[in-house]
Amino acid sequence: METNATLADLNLIADNVCVDFVNTVERGVRYQHQDWIGSYDAFLLWSRKAGLIDSDEFTCLKTQSSANRRKASRVFEKVLRLRALLRGIFAAISSGSTISTTTIKELNEFLTEAHLARKLEWVDQRAVWRWRADSVAMERPLWTLVMAAADLLTGGNVECVRKCANPQCSWMFVDTSKNKRRRWCEMEVCGNQAKARGHYARYRAGA
Ligand SMILES: [Zn+2]
Repeated sequence: METNATLADLNLIADNVCVDFVNTVERGVRYQHQDWIGSYDAFLLWSRKAGLIDSDEFTCLKTQSSANRRKASRVFEKVLRLRALLRGIFAAISSGSTISTTTIKELNEFLTEAHLARKLEWVDQRAVWRWRADSVAMERPLWTLVMAAADLLTGGNVECVRKCANPQCSWMFVDTSKNKRRRWCEMEVCGNQAKARGHYARYRAGA
């Protein structure tokens, strides 16, 4: 198992950005107890990689984070709360469990904040979402994730949220495959491990 992994080693495999967000904690299949989002600045790096912010927004937010560490750690606490909340919701969906009203209430609190930061503008004969403030708020990538989560939960793909079939793996994904038979987060990681275990079991059985 590798150590000293960098963000370049992390693959975005979930087919949905907020499920990839939940997959930023690794429980030992690829790396030992790796958390790719260990600080606000690490969250920014991941947000850039996931396409939630562009390079100008990244630079602007990085500067703000250096200038206001207290605010950065307050936003970071919210990032971790949202990740835990979404993990619980997606795990419940993938196992067919119900989601509590407390959970939905907490998600709605995030949504209210994100909605307040946005407005509609009329551009080229249609309405488009814009940020209300000209300055880039430190919560911006977090708000984008909240909106993406609401889109996923209210959209047609919500029933396709699955957990990887490897019991040791905690990763989840949205199964957008045509036959809806995707089992693994990554075939090269969990699929091959399962295949290897299958061969070994047959070998031990004398097959
Ligand atoms: Zn897996």
